[in-house]
Amino acid sequence: MEPIVALCKRRGFIFQSSEIYGGINGFFDYGPLGSELKKNIRDCWWNDMVRRRDDMAGLESSIVMHPRVWQASGHVAGFTDPLVDCKASKQRFRADQLFFSAIVVDGVKVGYVSALESERTSEELQEKAEQFKRKKALQGQLEPVKPLDMTEAAADEIELIPSPATGEAGSLTPPRAFNMMFETHVGAMRDASSVAYLRPETAQGMFADFKAVIDTGRFKVPFGIAQIGKAFRNEITPRNYIFRSREFEQMEMEFFISEDDDWQKWHRYWIDWCRDWLLSIGLPASHLSEFDHPKEKLAFYSKGTTDIMFEYPFGVQELWGIAARGNYDLLQHQEASGVSMAYFDEAAKKKYVPHVIEPAVGVDRIVLAALCSAYAEEEVEGEKRTVLHLNPRIAPVKAGIFPLVKNKPELVEVADRLYRTLKRRYNVFWDTSGAIGRRYRRMDEIGTPWCITVDFDSLENGTFTVRDRDTMEQVRMTEAEIRALLDEKTS
Ligand code: ATP
Repeated sequence: MEPIVALCKRRGFIFQSSEIYGGINGFFDYGPLGSELKKNIRDCWWNDMVRRRDDMAGLESSIVMHPRVWQASGHVAGFTDPLVDCKASKQRFRADQLFFSAIVVDGVKVGYVSALESERTSEELQEKAEQFKRKKALQGQLEPVKPLDMTEAAADEIELIPSPATGEAGSLTPPRAFNMMFETHVGAMRDASSVAYLRPETAQGMFADFKAVIDTGRFKVPFGIAQIGKAFRNEITPRNYIFRSREFEQMEMEFFISEDDDWQKWHRYWIDWCRDWLLSIGLPASHLSEFDHPKEKLAFYSKGTTDIMFEYPFGVQELWGIAARGNYDLLQHQEASGVSMAYFDEAAKKKYVPHVIEPAVGVDRIVLAALCSAYAEEEVEGEKRTVLHLNPRIAPVKAGIFPLVKNKPELVEVADRLYRTLKRRYNVFWDTSGAIGRRYRRMDEIGTPWCITVDFDSLENGTFTVRDRDTMEQVRMTEAEIRALLDEKTS
């Protein structure tokens, strides 16, 4: 991750939020290039998910909704993570990310070790157990550690497990439920009656507005409602850069189907759609996999959830969750609000509350996946080049425009004209400083797919040198050919 984080900071993709005040944990800012990259990802999704389909409605619901939305959805009671406090260090840990194991020598329990979840949790526990045995000069056979997380600890074990903060036992509390919703107050009063929440997901907006959309848009089931927007979760341990933050952006869609429809068919359809879409913005198939949530871990109403996983540098993690949620959410809102969520199906001549398939993804996790898989350090003619092989659809800058030299007004004039024409449609970058090779390197590093150089031949025959970022090959093209290339590859 280190070189990627450094590049993001150096070139203005991602900054720590409020950095001049020391930063605030779990919040990030997207700089000039990062905001372009993110916007391109959002635009691709919106175009493919909403505009290019006939069965989709777009939505932008408010971030603060009536608090009863979150009671009906189950978030007030149950949107919690298990939290463990260390009373000595005042640090807090997510119980399911804090692992421990008994140290067993010759079949006898002699102590405990603990470690925070990482790529090598088991190895770390094993090393600590071996250290313990050496320190105490214990003889006998050490059994391999058996890692469990703190939600699985027996009540009498908790005080024996060392805190990962201090290495000492006795300071960890039993896990308790911690609600992750950020609270705020609406209006001038600050009491229980004015409590509201920053939404922890965008999905409830689609359920709460289901009636309004269907009554005004003449949509017929099966159809979907999609939206992109900010979500907020007071994560106990935000980590892995923008992978798990406290303010992030979601792209969610609720696809409503008939109660008689084959939900498994639609579930599979949307898993495949999501995977294909990730490939279309350049994520490599080799980094993608699927994870089916085991039946016994699903919520009682859930029919099935499959996550599309991505191989990040810190491990294989959830990128996109595709859940078959039955009609639980609409029924909950129907009951809590007293407003019917029933839909009259003209074709089937019957009324029912539709079931739903929900693909939910975080934009920030896609940004990180794109950056991680695009980053490369390559050797070119004995020199190192850092390059982001970003797909042209999402690359923040589509082309660099360079006059070969900056002190020939006739070259600069033609280049400037080309730059201004292309800039109307594409984010292109003007650069006159330094040798062409240096200008290429600067563009490679931010993932610009093409560099267009205006040289003396351009004045003669109206063609320009177009250099490809990935192959580094150069061809001559007319302005019309350049426009056709950009149009085809970036839309
Ligand atoms: P996780 O298990 O990683 O906490 P989740 O299963 O709680 O995620 P969902 O509630 O299904 O996540 O949210 C849908 C999507 O929103 C996730 O697949 C992920 O891409 C994104 N997301 C969730 N939490 C965060 C976060 N804290 N920071 C960034 N993105 C997030």
